[in-house]
Amino acid sequence: MRQEDSHPSIPTLPSAPSLVASDHDRRALLAALTFVGKPPRSAAALESWFEKHLVSAGRMQRPAYVAEGFSKRVALGPQVPADRGASEIEALVDAARLRVLASLRAFMPPATNDRFLAAAIDGGRVRCAGGPGPWEPCPHEEDLLSDIVLSLFAADILNFREFHDAYLCVCKTCFRIDFDPSQSGRTGCPEHQPTATVSVMRRGRPSL
Ligand SMILES: [Zn+2]
Repeated sequence: MRQEDSHPSIPTLPSAPSLVASDHDRRALLAALTFVGKPPRSAAALESWFEKHLVSAGRMQRPAYVAEGFSKRVALGPQVPADRGASEIEALVDAARLRVLASLRAFMPPATNDRFLAAAIDGGRVRCAGGPGPWEPCPHEEDLLSDIVLSLFAADILNFREFHDAYLCVCKTCFRIDFDPSQSGRTGCPEHQPTATVSVMRRGRPSL
């Protein structure tokens, strides 16, 4: 089975000096970007995302279920028939993805609301490995799926705050994530240019 296809919708990180100089890995960020860029559409795909990015990396136990604010728990695992609960999983993943993107959108200027960072720390979903860092995600099975994904973003933002303050772009219209503010600013995307860049035509009519 070929699951390892390319991820065309996942933005690549720019080679900023802060990244080159750092020994910290960015796997938490890549895991989070994979979730929002290519959301799992089935229980099997969600299990595979957990396995690859969290369980095998030693960041959490293999979850027996997932939950999101609106829904009851949805079971995962080999005992769950593959064709059962697909629409439940899709709705749950979509809701989690939307909440994650809304939190990131609020994190952007001008609101710069970083409450989800404090929530991740207070909820024990990220921990500081020692001394001044690095921060690493340590979510739990009983956490909401959106909080699990946010813990991945939170760990990377806590480790690389300056990088995110300079490069993270979240379109305020479609929530697209990118890391190249030179294209459309911090809150635009190629399809939704920020209104501030609209040029005003100047008339060269001489005054009489
Ligand atoms: Zn957009």
